[in-house]
Amino acid sequence: MSNSIQKNLNHVLELIKNAEEKSERTPASVKLVAVSKFHSVEEIIKVIQEGQNTFGENRVQEAVEKFSEIKKLGYNPDLHIIGTLQRNKVKDAVKISNCIESVDRIPLMEEIEKQCSKINKTIDILFEYHTGEDSKSGFKDKESLFEALELCNRGVFPHIKPKGFMTMAPFTSDKEKIRYAFKVLKDVASLAKQKFKNLSLTELSMGMSGDFEIAIEEGSTMVRIGTAIFGERIYN
Ligand SMILES: *Cc1c(COP(=O)(O)O)cnc(C)c1O
Repeated sequence: MSNSIQKNLNHVLELIKNAEEKSERTPASVKLVAVSKFHSVEEIIKVIQEGQNTFGENRVQEAVEKFSEIKKLGYNPDLHIIGTLQRNKVKDAVKISNCIESVDRIPLMEEIEKQCSKINKTIDILFEYHTGEDSKSGFKDKESLFEALELCNRGVFPHIKPKGFMTMAPFTSDKEKIRYAFKVLKDVASLAKQKFKNLSLTELSMGMSGDFEIAIEEGSTMVRIGTAIFGERIYN
């Protein structure tokens, strides 16, 4: 088992590299976020020891427990929060993470700003955008997203550094539907970049275990991969 996590990781890195080549993307332009939710500290450390430095967790409480232990053991990986974030979890979330990928509403940004200013920290965020019919999360339309971007543009949130966009494709085996979702995100991102030239909106976080190769073809700069590295999650 332990050996297979390392093998899986290296296999995923190889597939990412192949997908970059196939779609004539710059080598190493796609960053891997290893999604470790439901997996143990021991498993995460194996992946760190293979050289992987960025992890994703979707539940703040679980992330706090595991990543404080990992830090105590002397490792200091980057952590992205990728799941829907409740306001009362923001305080812990900004303490332990480097990036919140799942920013989906303005009140959440207000809370992130408040908590970051208290601890004098600037945090990266991505705007989650709704592109898939059966996912509930994310900004629902361009207007609400651009409203949030406009606030950043005006300097309302000095402790928040917007870096780009995130989406989850629909859960389907229909590759064209998945590809369409990624294209929607890319189009919204390019509109946003034209409109908000002072913001550095370079990141497109899209692609998971089942669809990251399509995402890379469509311009992803960050893939969030759990199952293909750690194996199936056991929910209990
Ligand atoms: C769990 C999760 C992933 C990883 O999914 P896999 O299919 O296991 O690769 C990616 N993004 C988000 C937002 C997730 O919650």
